Amino acid sequence: MDAMISASILSADFSHLAGEIHAAELGGTDWIHIDVMDGQFVPNITMGPFIVDTCRKITNLPLDVHLMIERPEQHLESFAQAGASILTVHTETCPHIYKTLQTIRELGCHPGVVINPGTPASSLDAILHLVDLVLILTVNPGYSGQDFIPEVLPKVRKVRQKLDAIHSQAWLEVDGGITPENLPQVWEAGARAFVAATSIFKYPAGIAAGIRALRSQVPV
Ligand code: ZN
Repeated sequence: MDAMISASILSADFSHLAGEIHAAELGGTDWIHIDVMDGQFVPNITMGPFIVDTCRKITNLPLDVHLMIERPEQHLESFAQAGASILTVHTETCPHIYKTLQTIRELGCHPGVVINPGTPASSLDAILHLVDLVLILTVNPGYSGQDFIPEVLPKVRKVRQKLDAIHSQAWLEVDGGITPENLPQVWEAGARAFVAATSIFKYPAGIAAGIRALRSQVPV
């Protein structure tokens, strides 16, 4: 399986959002990652369905929407209608996660599940067969520009084994502090999709060069 790069617009320049997304597209990103924060589950407030709709008008790339919000089940329809391709919810915010993931699929999106650095891999056991994507946070959720937490790597490895054990084709994605320097070890642990915000949109040599730098570290 090839590496998927998901460019998080959290670090994009919103005064030139269309230009930034087009630059990521030209640079070869596979997905556009949208970090939705509500000021409740995480301290920051960022974007909602309106921005997903805006991105949908800018690009045809899949929109990888990460919901860091309380009660995500109340907003799934709005995000699906806005054009989300993947809708990823936190186990920490979903008391009825089985149902929530089923609803996401019924809405025509790929269901994804995400866990914080402190949440164990075992919390995924009952739902792994329902999802098209598992996202493992490698920083605390809520801000861009944080350092990667290497202690999360054994959990990535564990989830890779669980997915392989049930012959799941789900993408295993990591999010938080991913750089060209640490990408090889995360790949080695079994991740095959990589979210990057700062490493792409704040890359000194430009957005396309940032994506190329990440992809150049994918083992062949
Ligand atoms: Zn994210």
